[in-house]
Amino acid sequence: MPADLRCPACETTYAAGPDEPWRCECGHALEFADRPHPDGEPLPLSRLDTSRGLWTFFEFLPIEGHVTFHEGFTPLVDAPEWDAQFKLEYVLPTGSFKDRGATTTLSRAIELGVERVIEDSSGNAGASIATYAARAGLEADIYVPADVKQSKLMAIQRADARPVRVEGSRQDVTDACIDAVEAGEGWYASHAWNPAFYAGTMTIAFEIAAQRDWTVPDAVVLPIGHGTLFLGAYRGFSLLNEAGIVDGMPRLLGAQAAGHAPIVDALADDPLDGDGNGSDIADGIRIAEPAREDEILEAIDETDGDAIALGSDPIESALDRLHRGGFYVEPTSAVAPAALERYRADGHLADDAEVVVPLTGSGLKTL
Ligand SMILES: [Zn+2]
Repeated sequence: MPADLRCPACETTYAAGPDEPWRCECGHALEFADRPHPDGEPLPLSRLDTSRGLWTFFEFLPIEGHVTFHEGFTPLVDAPEWDAQFKLEYVLPTGSFKDRGATTTLSRAIELGVERVIEDSSGNAGASIATYAARAGLEADIYVPADVKQSKLMAIQRADARPVRVEGSRQDVTDACIDAVEAGEGWYASHAWNPAFYAGTMTIAFEIAAQRDWTVPDAVVLPIGHGTLFLGAYRGFSLLNEAGIVDGMPRLLGAQAAGHAPIVDALADDPLDGDGNGSDIADGIRIAEPAREDEILEAIDETDGDAIALGSDPIESALDRLHRGGFYVEPTSAVAPAALERYRADGHLADDAEVVVPLTGSGLKTL
């Protein structure tokens, strides 16, 4: 039986099914009614069978694994030049961390008996949902900005999904997509709204902990657009604590691009506010209204975290250094490493702090 949905704000519950709402009647994002987790000591990584990728952690997931490319267990590598460990999310099957959420979201679509999925995306989520929909044998309509990168559009088309190009802002793309969902054209496989997506992204926390012999780092620096990965990390580390598998949370430090920084703006007394020059280089995180802003702010508060905004110069400089160092990522992926440098320079991280930074998307799709 697919898991039912519940609203954390007004506590209304909704039965699982292909016609389930994409958000609560009160407007809040929905969650799964269940939060499963295993009990007892976890196996050391050397004895863990990781051949199922992130589905190794099926006991934590309120979804059965139906649609998979064996994604997950991306490398966690030392990056001495950055005094951090990088988690190489850009080696996932379609070149971004979004595959973590696509495998769980399309698996949920199969559980529910959905026939067509709809998603809106600046590129990576669209390519990922399109590819996993093809694997699932489902039709997919992907709403994209009219100026979407050609290589990302190509990935959507090659998976035989239907791209729908929308003129205007990123929000206009989302609005057109939601109109289609509300007109009954399909199930909203949204990386911003669908709780199944976050069930997948939280596996990054399980992997980081497992790869560190079931310990948590002092901090994780992550990009924030809708907070898909940021909240995934928060949920995953929280669940590991609930299960008694680790003790303590890493500080969750967010990175946004100046001019597209609603979380930084919401932290009004933030002494680390950005330089004020808008930056459009990070096309993957140009989000004006994150679907789960409240929870992002809660995650920052609960973990002694923070969020800062960076202009184009430090992002481009970080991107150059990453490429020269063999990390061929897209510009959006350079925002978190650039933020790491700012956090260190401003004394917000101790010199000996152990920090993990996910590198979220491949540069090969931005050519
Ligand atoms: Zn509600």
